[in-house]
Amino acid sequence: MKETPKNLNYLGVDQIYVFGSNLAGKHGAGSAKKATEFFDAEYGNPEGLQGKCYAIPTKDEKIETLPISMITIYVERFLNFVKANPEYDFLVIEIGCMLAGYKPIDIAPLFIRGKHFPNLSLPKSFINVIDALIDGDGYRSRYTVGEKCFVCKEEAYHKVNENVFDDDPIQTRHELTTYLCCKHFQMIMGNFAKKMCDNNKHPSF
Ligand SMILES: [Zn+2]
Ligand SMILES: [Zn+2]
Repeated sequence: MKETPKNLNYLGVDQIYVFGSNLAGKHGAGSAKKATEFFDAEYGNPEGLQGKCYAIPTKDEKIETLPISMITIYVERFLNFVKANPEYDFLVIEIGCMLAGYKPIDIAPLFIRGKHFPNLSLPKSFINVIDALIDGDGYRSRYTVGEKCFVCKEEAYHKVNENVFDDDPIQTRHELTTYLCCKHFQMIMGNFAKKMCDNNKHPSF
């Protein structure tokens, strides 16, 4: 995994600065301000490629922090864009972890799919989290080792976390962590999961 340089004040010809934005497109503070001042981000444009930047929304129209479930969608869209545009080199900074208030442990897992993209750089703090979650080149979380499937008690390859998001009707319930074998993981996640497991990549969520 490539590492985004610290204190990025200069971009090479094909490099793109990837920063956290809000859905109002008000790039007025923090890294978004920097994106506007130095790298031609477009004020009013909340998402996507603009100037020498790519905006990933981490806050809503009222500049309040988005739930991880929403940020996941924007990061997925971003990763698709990275894959489709190999001519650019994308330098992701610690999005979501400054003004939006998340920690790298919350945000970094969203980028796991991009681990082997040659044109993607992530901040050191994200790389550390991803390295801790992943074994070698496979996608099996280290934390599954020694765990048994919750359903059938076979060896577990997947760890599944349930998040209680801000809009959950029952805010007091406990978040659930469980472990699943490949078969039962695929029953929940469908065809996409089968493909991953067949390639010896066993995602955890
Ligand atoms: Zn099972
Ligand atoms: Zn699996």
